[in-house]
Amino acid sequence: MKSWSTPAPPTVPSRPDRLRLHDTATGRTRHPGNDAQRASLYVCGITPYDATHLGHASTYVAFDLLHRYWRAAGLEVAYVQNVTDVDDPLLERAEATGVDWRALAEEQTDLFRADMAALEVLAPDHYVGATEAVGLVVDAVETMLAAGRAYRVPGGDGEPDGDVYFDVRAAQSATDWRLGQVSAMGPDEMAAVFPERGGDPDRPGKRDPLDPLLWRVHREGEPAWDGRSLGSGRPGWHIECSVISRAHLPAPFTVQGGGSDLRFPHHEFSAAHATAVDGLPLAHTYAHTGMVALDGEKMSKSLGNLELVSRLRARGVEPVAVRAAILAHHYRSDWEWSEQVLTDAQARVARWRAALDGPHAAAGVAVLDAVHAALSDDLDAPRALEALDAWAAGTLPGLAEAAADPVPVVDVVAALLGLRLR
Ligand code: ZN
Repeated sequence: MKSWSTPAPPTVPSRPDRLRLHDTATGRTRHPGNDAQRASLYVCGITPYDATHLGHASTYVAFDLLHRYWRAAGLEVAYVQNVTDVDDPLLERAEATGVDWRALAEEQTDLFRADMAALEVLAPDHYVGATEAVGLVVDAVETMLAAGRAYRVPGGDGEPDGDVYFDVRAAQSATDWRLGQVSAMGPDEMAAVFPERGGDPDRPGKRDPLDPLLWRVHREGEPAWDGRSLGSGRPGWHIECSVISRAHLPAPFTVQGGGSDLRFPHHEFSAAHATAVDGLPLAHTYAHTGMVALDGEKMSKSLGNLELVSRLRARGVEPVAVRAAILAHHYRSDWEWSEQVLTDAQARVARWRAALDGPHAAAGVAVLDAVHAALSDDLDAPRALEALDAWAAGTLPGLAEAAADPVPVVDVVAALLGLRLR
């Protein structure tokens, strides 16, 4: 699937990789596990409808900071993102609004790409739709069935024969993966969120209520692909990200990213499926972004309380201000979008721009050191923006020394924070 294009970040003096990143699986903040030359990143993409709300945008901007940090440290970065372009919620929305699901997915993916480009989110190297990965899914599910780590559920009660489920218990006894090891959730929490996030604990014939779907055999009126020995049908959700990441990234890759609502079941089972196929962990580190609320409620498609990047752009809001508003919040915190947040960000951008005409416009080294130190500490963007405020106010330490070694601040800010002020 075609990606989007973003201008290459300006070249600035490189700084060493001192990153410490919070890992959900271990609960520790530590180096994410890349080597000195390269790093790899997989961020779960959107299901293409209601694109691109501020919750989405804040997730992709957060992982863009990571991407930029690594590049600024001279690392080669391999970045993959998917699009869940066939899934129950997409089909339900298409049905409810009377449009073809393919047309909806295409239109919304286009909108997403335009929003990402406007927000200066560096494009992934591979942008892959679930519908493009069906052959890989079939390979993986066949392997798991042959190894006894998946099973077919018999039909009945209007359901056809042959849906394939992942066998959580069998996978735990045969591999190093343990239920809850990625999400760091206990049994009660997992049981509570599973049905809210696409799980079907009550499906008759399952061996364990938490066993997730791998392959859904064809139903009348639903899209279907050739599943070879599985029969015609379509992929479950988690397996899509397992196979797409394995196809394009090392095993394990450095960071698996996504919103905190993906901890369980999505990231737990994407990891479990990958390990069930080849015995290796999915990733070194699992990083999750906080949820963005609007008017006190989590911004979500099901609640319908969304602020869209495209709507802000249509209103004439500059994308750089939207990005600055997002970066004013730590990526792991839950926060609330409001007009005030936007107004504050616009005022800040104006102050930074004014300072580009001031006496410290070439004090890029001082800004770079301060921003790099903030980002090294679990991508602390709010602290990085405070350093920019201090630079604009002329109070950032090191401004005088930096004048002797001129580096444009405008380039540093564009390279590390993706804020294009000019
Ligand atoms: Zn995913």
